[in-house]
Amino acid sequence: MAQENIAVTNFREYLRIKTVHPEPDYENAIVWLKKQAIDLGLEFHIVEFPKPNEFAVWLTWQGKDVTLKSVLLNSHIDVVPVDATKWTYDPFGAEKDANGNIFARGSQDMKCVGVQYLEAIRNLKARGVVPLRTVHVSFVPDEEVGGYKGMACFVKSPEFASLNVGFALDEGIASPDESFHVFYGERAIWQFRMTAKGKTGHASILHEDTAAEKIHKIINKLLGLREVEKARLKSNPNFDLGDVTSVNMTMLSGGLQPNVVPPELSVVFDMRITPHWKLDDMKKMLDDLCIEAGPEVSYDYIQHSNIIAQTALNDSNVWWTTFKSVTDSLKMQLNSSIFPASTDIMFIREIPAFGFSPMNNTPVLLHDHDEFLNETVFLRGVEIYEAILDKIVNVTKSDSTP
Ligand SMILES: [Zn+2]
Repeated sequence: MAQENIAVTNFREYLRIKTVHPEPDYENAIVWLKKQAIDLGLEFHIVEFPKPNEFAVWLTWQGKDVTLKSVLLNSHIDVVPVDATKWTYDPFGAEKDANGNIFARGSQDMKCVGVQYLEAIRNLKARGVVPLRTVHVSFVPDEEVGGYKGMACFVKSPEFASLNVGFALDEGIASPDESFHVFYGERAIWQFRMTAKGKTGHASILHEDTAAEKIHKIINKLLGLREVEKARLKSNPNFDLGDVTSVNMTMLSGGLQPNVVPPELSVVFDMRITPHWKLDDMKKMLDDLCIEAGPEVSYDYIQHSNIIAQTALNDSNVWWTTFKSVTDSLKMQLNSSIFPASTDIMFIREIPAFGFSPMNNTPVLLHDHDEFLNETVFLRGVEIYEAILDKIVNVTKSDSTP
């Protein structure tokens, strides 16, 4: 039997570290990353923030010109929980079947990408490549629970500022056909609770100014918007979820007992706002809705991102033209779109950045049972990153700013 490629062995080793919520084993992941840094001859860095499990790790490959902006390759270390009874294999065994499919939580989301970055650097170093720009390969915790202990802290730190990042790559998603997805923007996530207060009293009386009448108006308005956006998505075959705003009513609460008109009712909505819209307009809509619904109606945010920038996909963006020239030379078919959910990349969106996980001909199994990635697809991904990095790390000062 042929010896397993070292990239695959490393991938399987990383998958076996149980960085699964709610108690991810970050300690052993950090030990493993340190070992990779030594093996590859990269600098190992870690910054720890005040609260437990708040940190970021990055491995640095020094470039020839440290005055140039660097390239950041980001991935998250954590994975979502599993229901092991629904899995064919141990979700943390990283078993490989006869077809080369490697089964494990994180095989698609996104330990594959973290290892592929490193293995691409291994190959480039073996070829004697010395990058013009410095490359930082970052590994952050807690993306799957909002990124607040990882990327959100990291981007605000002086350590991150000192990296002087000019371009970043982060995760995308698998594609079941021949094509590859590349994401150039995210939708802004707004989760908010709207609360209505009103006249309480016996439920046999038709009181004026009740909380339910106000909540009714709110629900009508927002579910009306939902209908409009659903129709818009269906009407244009070129539209993806990222091109429209999704609206979902996710929680409804209030009431004391069946024969009492409730003094207060509240409803929670989850909205993902397309970057084609202006957030100020959405804010005004919610403010107006509070007034339209009647007195004593207010709202508060549960989650609220104000970042809605997109990375340009045109000739003005050298990172895009470079990326695209490589994928074209590899005859890869790219599907560019707005990411429907949010990832850590939203924290660095002001920097040109793409979401990209090179997995084609692969069923989309992130967060699903029996998540797997085929060994051949994984190794092809290493080659793709190798080709992309070879060009991206050598983008000259005259090509970019700076
Ligand atoms: Zn992910």
